[in-house]
Amino acid sequence: MDKPVIQRCPIGCDSTLQATDIHLPEGILRRCSECGQLLSSCSQSRYDHTMQDFNHDAGTMPTGKSARRHRQRIGAILREAIDFLDQPADSVRFLDVGCSSGSVLHIASEMHIGTVCGVEPAPKAAATAQQLGYAVFSGYLHEAAYADASFDLVTTFEVVEHLADAGSMAKEVSRILRPGGLWLIGTGNAESWTAERLREQWEYYSIAQNGGHISFFNPRSIALLGQRHGMSVAYLRTKRTLGSPPAARTRLGKLRDELMAIPARLTGRGHDMLAALRKR
Ligand SMILES: [Zn+2]
Repeated sequence: MDKPVIQRCPIGCDSTLQATDIHLPEGILRRCSECGQLLSSCSQSRYDHTMQDFNHDAGTMPTGKSARRHRQRIGAILREAIDFLDQPADSVRFLDVGCSSGSVLHIASEMHIGTVCGVEPAPKAAATAQQLGYAVFSGYLHEAAYADASFDLVTTFEVVEHLADAGSMAKEVSRILRPGGLWLIGTGNAESWTAERLREQWEYYSIAQNGGHISFFNPRSIALLGQRHGMSVAYLRTKRTLGSPPAARTRLGKLRDELMAIPARLTGRGHDMLAALRKR
């Protein structure tokens, strides 16, 4: 039998991984006793197989109504980061890691961000972004070999949960950020009310529905990841909550989820997490 793709805590803790009582089809979910990171028992071969889902020409380019929402959401996130950096947008050097076919690069270009670059390991998606005219490196971040302090702003949206070793990425992002630069991480929150309530039914844990999801963060583990690589939390927020799996949601359930979204956001227990780590 294949060994699990993750053998130790990717945040860099020395603690051993302990079994939780959450059973997934790939095996039991494990927890780092130091930082609370939850880790899949998925095998390397199963992981490699599900990651193939990302290698197609269209990449993850949203269409129609979801494209409009995507543009609003990403636009607001980038604007807030640029305000925080306190430099004119047209002077910002920006890199989106895991840029797929370039949907975030497109929004950044529309905002007249100074330099817009991307990195994408799935060759077909990277080729699509390149054909659209974006400066995209086809491969992994460390292979791009950017110079030290090349960027003011680096984003990874829906990337870190796919990594067996988020520590290596944190090290590289920290190296290519200028002091004071920001790394924005968009990922799920495994200490959310949704995660607590839905347990193995939380769709986010499903490697079948979300190819390559193997590493599940919480506000503490993100902060620790930054701290161990010369970064500190500039801001971190969470939003949204689900009381039942989407397929089983009633109208009353939806109403309750909408009401609970406000306390979830205020208490950091929402399941959508955005962390901004600032390079010291
Ligand atoms: Zn840990």
